[in-house]
Amino acid sequence: MKTIIEPFRIKSVEYVKTTTPEERKEILRKAHYNPFLIPAEDVLIDLLTDSGTSAMSAKQWAGILDGDESYAGSKSYFRFEEVTKKIFGFKHIIPVHQGRAAERILFTYLLSDIDKDGRFNNAGKGKFIPSNNHFDTTRANIEFNGAGAVDLVIEEGKQPKIIHPFKGNMDTLKLREFMQKYGAKNIPVCMLTITNNTGGGQPVSMENIREVSKICKEFGIPFFLDACRFAENAYFIKIREKGFEKKSIMEICNEMFSYADGCTMSAKKDAFANIGGFLAMNNDEWYSNCKSLLIITEGYETYGGLAGRDMEAIAQGLEEIIDESYLHYRIHSTKYLGDKMTENGIPIIQPPGGHAIYLDAKAWLPHIPADQFPGQAVVCELYLAGGVRAVEIGSVMFGKYDENGKTIPADMELVRLAIPRRVYTQSHIDFLIEVLCEINDRKDKIKGVKIVEEPKFLRHFTAKFDLLD
Ligand SMILES: *Cc1c(COP(=O)(O)O)cnc(C)c1O
Repeated sequence: MKTIIEPFRIKSVEYVKTTTPEERKEILRKAHYNPFLIPAEDVLIDLLTDSGTSAMSAKQWAGILDGDESYAGSKSYFRFEEVTKKIFGFKHIIPVHQGRAAERILFTYLLSDIDKDGRFNNAGKGKFIPSNNHFDTTRANIEFNGAGAVDLVIEEGKQPKIIHPFKGNMDTLKLREFMQKYGAKNIPVCMLTITNNTGGGQPVSMENIREVSKICKEFGIPFFLDACRFAENAYFIKIREKGFEKKSIMEICNEMFSYADGCTMSAKKDAFANIGGFLAMNNDEWYSNCKSLLIITEGYETYGGLAGRDMEAIAQGLEEIIDESYLHYRIHSTKYLGDKMTENGIPIIQPPGGHAIYLDAKAWLPHIPADQFPGQAVVCELYLAGGVRAVEIGSVMFGKYDENGKTIPADMELVRLAIPRRVYTQSHIDFLIEVLCEINDRKDKIKGVKIVEEPKFLRHFTAKFDLLD
């Protein structure tokens, strides 16, 4: 059979609210044209993020009831530890409340000098952390600690139209040059994001992971994976990379992580959990220091700011996410949306990624300049036309100002349509395609937006906008 079906059936449902175009106009105005500020109840199809929005399985919910809430050494922690060790293979696991907490702990430690009294004094200035593309919270945590976050993705990864099986790959020539220039003294760790969220949910090949690891070893620089979508990445390796066709997802995961010294993980992505994450590593000294930071701000080492039940849900979710029939459905249903958009002349990052489709707003609305934020204009239109919520990943998220206050645009102007795991059916997606086509018919008339208020860090979450006329 050619039809790819959901390898599950629906056991519990949540109703969604339909609004009128007039209501949406008012709701969007009140939200200052920033979809992050729209109440979720007023959204029909919520593609803002795939983070923490997964439908949990009956077994996960059962685990929630069965979670052990002991402060120290709970049964749920040991199950969490066992499953994470089986898949990721690192010596130490630190549970945290979500991915960015793992980043904060890791970078606070790596970008500090620790004095004789055990105090952490920030020493991030002049240090750099390379990656293929840093995710926004990763970048913010590095920059907040005074260091530089450097993106070294391959050139193909910056060209939306180019088809390449592993557009998330690191440019290893550039990485080597970079390491030669700055050396281990100024590069406390090298990261690699699998899959590359910022670059379009594009996978990284095993060959590239192996090569980056080799270069890091050569320079004596530790190597960490940002593992948020490790299972989707493993599935892409299985279907696209020679020599992996017959390997199980577990074997591919084991090999990917065998090349790294540790990882950061958000369980809100590839663990089907609504909350949680972890920091994993092999180095004993790093572990000891990171644990101190954990206990100060997150919680004791066997819960790290989570409830026992959350660790149960993560452990069960990790076992479910590496199921090949799920990943087959996941990657192909995302591709269905991408292919339909392409057929209708709506430009996207090619080929379709794992967890999301990234609409190329620069190519779609070439009449809107970067400093009028074409991606933000698209997310407003999507809400007005169909109650669909999406997020801009372009100059709102990554743009900077030069010394004259002029916008330095991001490399790409994208709109991310993130697909929550196991949540929407094909008719939801067909409806979305209809909404996109309706906008496509009148796209030349769409106008840009301007920022009226913004914070210093991660401005896309809370900035206020106004429509230009
Ligand atoms: C979501 C995400 C993070 C941060 O995780 P949170 O759980 O949202 O804090 C880090 N890196 C990548 C690639 C992500 O997608």
